[in-house]
Amino acid sequence: VVGAGFGGLATVRGLRGAAVDVLLVDQHNYHLFQPLLYQVASALLDPAEVAYPTRSILHHQANADFRLGRVINVDLASRRVETDRGPLSYDYLVLAAGSVDHFFGNASLEERTHGLKSLGAALDLRNHVLRCFEEAQWTGDPVTRRRLLSFAIVGAGPTGVEYAGALSELIRLALRRDFPQLDLGGVRVHLVEAAGDVLAPFAQSLRASARRRLASMGVEVHLNAPVREVREDGIVLGDGEWLEASTVVWCGGVRASEVGKLPGVQLGRSGRIVVKPTLQLPGHAEVFVIGDMAEVRAGKTTLPMLAPVAIQAGEHAARNVLALCRGELPQRFRYRDRGIMATIGRNAGVAQLGPLHLAGFAGWVTWIFVHLALLIGFRNRLVTLVNWGWEYVLRERPIRIIASREPAPAPPPQTGRSAPLSVGWRPGDASETSRPDRGPTR
Ligand SMILES: Cc1cc2nc3c(=O)[nH]c(=O)nc-3n(C[C@H](O)[C@H](O)[C@H](O)COP(=O)(O)OP(=O)(O)OC[C@H]3O[C@@H](n4cnc5c(N)ncnc54)[C@H](O)[C@@H]3O)c2cc1C
Repeated sequence: VVGAGFGGLATVRGLRGAAVDVLLVDQHNYHLFQPLLYQVASALLDPAEVAYPTRSILHHQANADFRLGRVINVDLASRRVETDRGPLSYDYLVLAAGSVDHFFGNASLEERTHGLKSLGAALDLRNHVLRCFEEAQWTGDPVTRRRLLSFAIVGAGPTGVEYAGALSELIRLALRRDFPQLDLGGVRVHLVEAAGDVLAPFAQSLRASARRRLASMGVEVHLNAPVREVREDGIVLGDGEWLEASTVVWCGGVRASEVGKLPGVQLGRSGRIVVKPTLQLPGHAEVFVIGDMAEVRAGKTTLPMLAPVAIQAGEHAARNVLALCRGELPQRFRYRDRGIMATIGRNAGVAQLGPLHLAGFAGWVTWIFVHLALLIGFRNRLVTLVNWGWEYVLRERPIRIIASREPAPAPPPQTGRSAPLSVGWRPGDASETSRPDRGPTR
């Protein structure tokens, strides 16, 4: 099984207790709960609350083992998976390597945006946002300060909306108190979307509710606004409009992960591998492809890249592998759609559960309970719940730590009307401008 994400883990669990040997391979030694990554990036959760060691998950499964390694190729003819650590042979293969950011060939997007697709990317983004505020405190140039405190999030799907809301709350609730000398009235949070509305898969009433809530949180939503180019100081939209921003976050799309060249394999939208209704690779009955990597057709549409799709497909792939082992025919996969949801901020969420549409507080509470239930491990659930409760009651984001290998880089050279810093300031000094943290910004 390639990939210890939602789909791969569901496959491994589905094979528990069966008379088969299971080998799980992943480039990381943890399972990552991606739906809460944006909370790591916005200083609410620690990495350990959204990532769980894969070997711990396998403790109670005697027929499963794990290898840390990156898959670089699959030799379908000789039934071998090649990794950066060496080859592995298989009788049955389940490919569940998920997806990566998709920049649609736009080099400036790839080079100049922050992602939200991995733990490392989420931590980099948290460090970067906190550093922008620290640098804004140093600079005496109002233009530089305005740019440092301007943020653009590209893509108003669930991830972009959730991060925009969380960033706005980080600034309004926590950073406002951390930086009492900074005028945060100038902070801009732009949410930029190429399509005509936010949260495209949701019903019209829920989209309108999300838009109203974002506006009340100070998020400026730009619709029908494809990004043409990302520059060092901002982004250029399709119609030539320029939005100033020192931080651009890419939530605009993903494409299927590649695990080498697979000759004869048909690729669908976003590089997903087109599979048979049984989730098997055409021409290779022993290979299953699931989750974000697979294009599973359901009538005229394809199943979305969502965790429940990956989980149900993983469970189904396990059942089909066992059927093949018994000499039976594999069954076609049927997805049971239980709904979609997103949160926008405190007391505000949207949940679409079949005909039931919940917005505001009801949507938010539904989102909380569903995500808590899906997290792996009792400790993670408990700590996450405590962190959420802590933030709710105290309006505090506890993980505001710039954690990087290197010390913080030197602030940019002072330009404009910066006053020299006085080193002798003591509490109670009469001169406001002699206080190091106030002088340059006033
Ligand atoms: C920020 C964010 C928020 C999201 N929010 C939601 C949400 O609220 N609800 C929802 O339903 N979905 C959400 N999704 C989508 C959801 O996370 C994915 O659809 C789901 O993770 C897909 O499961 P998967 O098993 O296909 O892949 P993943 O869960 O991504 O797992 C893939 C695994 O494969 C490993 N891997 C990749 N390439 C290799 C390689 N070459 N060699 C070895 N290992 C490899 C990866 O390390 C990873 O562990 C979100 C996604 C993101 C990025």
